[in-house]
Amino acid sequence: MNKLTCPSCKSADCRFLDDYRYFKSEDRKYLGDMKVYQCQSCSLGFNSPMPDKAALDLYFKIVYRQSNRPHFKKDPRKAEILLWQKAQYAYMSQFCDFDKLQSIADYGAGYGMLLREIKLHHPDIKMSAYDPDVQSLEYLKSFDIETYDLFKCLDSAESKNKYDLIIASGSIMYDSNPHCFFDFANKNLSEKGKVFLEVPNHVFSDDSYTKRPYDGPVMFYFSIDSLKKLVDVNNLELEHITTASTELDDALQYRLNQYNAFNQKEESFIAKIMKGFKSKLKMMIPKRIKKAIKALLYDEDLDIAKKLAPFEYGGKRWTIRCIITRNLKSE
Ligand SMILES: [Zn+2]
Repeated sequence: MNKLTCPSCKSADCRFLDDYRYFKSEDRKYLGDMKVYQCQSCSLGFNSPMPDKAALDLYFKIVYRQSNRPHFKKDPRKAEILLWQKAQYAYMSQFCDFDKLQSIADYGAGYGMLLREIKLHHPDIKMSAYDPDVQSLEYLKSFDIETYDLFKCLDSAESKNKYDLIIASGSIMYDSNPHCFFDFANKNLSEKGKVFLEVPNHVFSDDSYTKRPYDGPVMFYFSIDSLKKLVDVNNLELEHITTASTELDDALQYRLNQYNAFNQKEESFIAKIMKGFKSKLKMMIPKRIKKAIKALLYDEDLDIAKKLAPFEYGGKRWTIRCIITRNLKSE
């Protein structure tokens, strides 16, 4: 059997952590039978065996935004920009003079909500959205945002585009290689350009990790230490790094609610009859009580960024937020 090595720092000192937790059981068909390991040298967590690029490309093109999953949006044009994106823009503004920027790329843009937030303030900046799921990006063309098939662009050797700012929010943990994004940044960043990066903060050192309801489809589990190492080995430099958003325990509870809401078992005949009975019963319950019950249950319209705290910083929080520049000293 081949000895496992860390995909970031190449250390062979890697420890088995747990079996991978799939969001839905059918995900195993696309992602394979994975286990989670952690590098004892740089602390990066990673899956093994890692699905190849083609499998991930397929997963993001046809599975990730299916209607029975959390990343589905029925009408992305009408989706509102969240406090989440506003907090990210406010953070970036401390390090970037947006009035001087000419172009921005979003790596793993999804529905491109962060680009849309920036566009509200700076309509003249040229914007490009990269994602494997080009179908979900299609509507962004009406916002004057160019769209690209991300995996095809990763394969091309040279880039015609140079960007003053490259953003990646909650996307690089989905790559099959932790260096993918940094190669993209090195290739596509203008000389004085900056990178805004946000990833989930995976704290393995206590029991938070065992409380997670699912991993899908995360491939890499970052900590501040492992991210610092990864930036360094890619010859880039951190200008600022912090933990951000809600406290970890609240975020885990949110994810558990989300997992339960999207993985309800098929209703049995008896359950359907009971539901009919309950709905009659419900009509007799006062509005005030109904509201209180509803607040306790997961509501799919109630997005995490609305009820959580994207403007909070420091300590054991749900994400790591940072600004990266070229390492100008070594060139
Ligand atoms: Zn490592």
